[in-house]
Formats: sequence, C-alpha cells, structure tokens
Amino acid sequence: MTFSGFRVIREALTGHKGWTPLWRDPDPQPSYDIVIVGGGGHGLATAYHLAAVFGQARVAVLEKGYLGSGNIGRNTTIIRSNYLLPGNQPFYEFSMKLWERMEQDLNFNAMVSQRGILNLLHTDAQRDAYRRRGNAMLLSGADAELLDQAGVRRMYPWLNFDNARFPIKGGLLQRRAGTARHDGVAWGYARAADQRGVDIIQNCEVTGFRIEGGRVLGVETTRGYIGAGKVGVAAAGSSSRVMALAGLRLPIESHVLQAFVSEGLKPVIDGVITFGAGHFYVSQSDKGGLVFGGDIDGYNSYAQRGNLPVFEDVLEGGMALMPRIGRARLLRAWGGVMDMSMDGSPIIDRTPVEGLYLNAGWCYGGFKATPASGYAFAHLLATDTPHETATAYRLDRFARGHVIDEKGVGATPNLH
Ligand SMILES: Cc1cc2nc3c(=O)[nH]c(=O)nc-3n(C[C@H](O)[C@H](O)[C@H](O)COP(=O)(O)OP(=O)(O)OC[C@H]3O[C@@H](n4cnc5c(N)ncnc54)[C@H](O)[C@@H]3O)c2cc1C
Repeated sequence: MTFSGFRVIREALTGHKGWTPLWRDPDPQPSYDIVIVGGGGHGLATAYHLAAVFGQARVAVLEKGYLGSGNIGRNTTIIRSNYLLPGNQPFYEFSMKLWERMEQDLNFNAMVSQRGILNLLHTDAQRDAYRRRGNAMLLSGADAELLDQAGVRRMYPWLNFDNARFPIKGGLLQRRAGTARHDGVAWGYARAADQRGVDIIQNCEVTGFRIEGGRVLGVETTRGYIGAGKVGVAAAGSSSRVMALAGLRLPIESHVLQAFVSEGLKPVIDGVITFGAGHFYVSQSDKGGLVFGGDIDGYNSYAQRGNLPVFEDVLEGGMALMPRIGRARLLRAWGGVMDMSMDGSPIIDRTPVEGLYLNAGWCYGGFKATPASGYAFAHLLATDTPHETATAYRLDRFARGHVIDEKGVGATPNLH
C-alpha cells in the first residue's frame, strides 16, 4: 500500500476499512544470509538499507519484545548534526541529510520537523567553544549560526536572560536540526524493510550464539535456532549482555536516562532549546506537551525507570532557564537503558568473532544517528568495509588510544 494525501481522504470517506498492517508477522525461517539482533531504530534502519541499497534479500530482524519497545520509542526525538570532532561531524551530517529525504524514501510520515536547535551560551569561554564547534560544522557542510543575546531574545523573549548566575549571552543555532516522531521512524523503517522482503520477527529473544572455529553460524532464540551467514547486533542498552553471550566484553556501561513530558500547552516553544549552564533541554510536541530531559541517573542499571534525584535536578535546570515552566503540570516520566561507551562515541565494526558485527555505544544521542547508523552498518555487513563516514567507529580504538571524546571527559561514561 502506498500512502498519499489522496489515500487518506479516500479512507476517511470509506470508514477507514482499507488500511492493512504495516508489516507481516512471519515465522522465522531456518536460516538467513544476515540476521540483525534488535528491532530498535538502528536494527530496522540497517535491515532497510541492506535490502534497499545493498540488494540483500534474505534478512531477518529479531526483536525480543515488540517493535519500538526500546529506546527508539523512549527518546526525546531530537535530531541534529552539531558535533565538533572529525570522527563524528561528517557522520552526523550524513545522518541529517538522510533525515531530510527519509519520508520520501520510506513513503511514511515520520513527522520530521526541522524546527532548529539553539544551544544557549552563558560565558565568554562558552562562546569561544561554540564558535569553534560552529566552524567545524560549517567545514563539513552543516549549517551553524552564532547568535548574540539580541538574536536569542528575538527568538525566545521569555527566557530568563538576566539571571545573575546564568545570564544568557547568546547561542549556537542549527536551523536544519529539529525533531522527528520516534515511533514513526521505527514503523516507517519496519514497513519499508518488510516491503523489500525482510522478516521482522517480534517476541524472539536471542539467548546465545552458535560459534565454531571462531566463526558465528547462527543464533539460539526463544523461537528456536536460526542459522545466519552474518549476524549484526544492534541491541543498544542490552549490547553488553548480548555480546557476553558470544564471550565478548565491551567497553560499554549501561545507564538509565529519563525523559519528561508536561500536560498539553498552547504553542510556546517552536524549536529545541538546550541550557548551557546545566543539563536541560526542551522542545514542544505537536500535541502541546513540553518534552524535556537532562542527565543520566549516573549509576549502572538495566531498568527502564529512574530515580527522583535526577528528576529534581532536571526540573531545577528548567526553572533556572524558563521560570514559567514551574506553572506547568508534569504528565509523565519514563526511562530507557543507554549503552554508554568510554568516550561517548559509537562503535560500528567487526568483532573478533568472524561473521559477528557490532553496532553500539550510542549513549543518549543515537536517535539522530538512526538513518546513518543503519546505512553504515548495512554497508559494513554487505561489503565488509566501513562506510566512509564511520571509519573512526572502531571497536579497538580504546586499546589503540584513538578515542573520539567529544566532551573531553575521558573514560567516564556517566559524564558523556
Ligand atoms: C529518555 C531518552 C531520551 C533520548 N533522547 C534522545 C534525543 O533526543 N536524541 C537522540 O539522538 N537520542 C536520544 N536518545 C538515545 C536514543 O534513543 C538511542 O541512542 C537509540 O534509540 C538507540 O538505538 P535503537 O533505537 O536501536 O535502540 P532500541 O530501540 O533500544 O533497540 C534495541 C532493541 O534490541 C532489543 N534487544 C535487546 N536484547 C535483545 C536480545 N537478546 N534479542 C533480541 N532483541 C534484543 C531490545 O528489546 C530493543 O528493542 C534518548 C534515549 C532515551 C532513553
């Protein structure tokens, strides 16, 4: 089925009886050329690109729960390419370009909205750092504008500019950044992959790997053994647990990250704003809820829920930046499990087990990477060579000392 405005009108006039499920519900086949572990955004995007770009027909995505139950359906939906380091910036800009054509490629409305992101700055040193970041972005073809205080005032006159502790002196603006509907992204990739023959198998947990002579032959699952020419793991917060099944220990810690949404309000924020003197970021959903978040909880956890100290910390950040948020009522809060790498950057690479590939370490920035991560992982799985924008994301970089430490905080995953 192809989606179009005409189709929506026709269904509206005929009682919505013509819609069909977005993807099939197949039983697993005995074997596939490529098996992807994890039906989150990255696994689904990988499967889609394997089929659509690299002509791979015999691909399966195995998801232990239901599709979208992981971080792809829990994030705060921000997409951007405002990175600094050479290993990161071209990759995230590639992702931004894929976002810009994704809905046409997938024929699916994922509500990609380039409403801009504004990183506020509060000190002269921060202005220098943002100028440097903006220049790095421009050099790799992204857009960036440095605003002074008057420029920020024109956009958001109600911010707390003259707060004695954190006066707002300007901001780094990326207009092409924005938000996308996270579930829509998962559904869009799933539908487009399914249409190209990919089997999406839900309620199918991978419980082990069959490895002989250093080579992976397939996966043990709760729905039986499935043979595979190659296996790609994209299990986000469960990466270390899944790879431990293959005898591998990863440079990754799992942490919980919370997000919050207020009751629906009239339009008040038309872009994404980040506070530069604390960890707080906010945007407004199309339903009117203020969607915001801050730091990870800071202790290792596999629980999809967090604790009150971070709750308080995030809300303090919000109050410092926009005091009127104190009058809004909080509707919901939730958590997701983050695969925090030792340098804050991801891994897209082969592993020491032949035929076993890894896509992990997305920390709390993996949503914006979904299209490029899927493309680059599919490239690696199909051609055995890294995509040109992902050559730095090697698993052995931690041993070699070639880390990509965007924040410059060293091997402290809870600070990235
Ligand atoms: C609160 C919050 C806010 C965030 N905000 C942003 C943001 O604004 N912008 C941004 O860029 N990023 C953000 N992120 C990060 C982003 O959501 C993640 O980095 C990204 O979604 C991870 O990739 P994924 O979609 O593939 O993960 P997931 O959706 O978690 O997919 C992994 C899947 O693997 C499955 N799985 C695990 N183990 C097994 C197994 N043994 N067998 C089979 N399947 C298995 C899981 O069930 C899961 O569905 C946020 C995350 C959270 C939690």
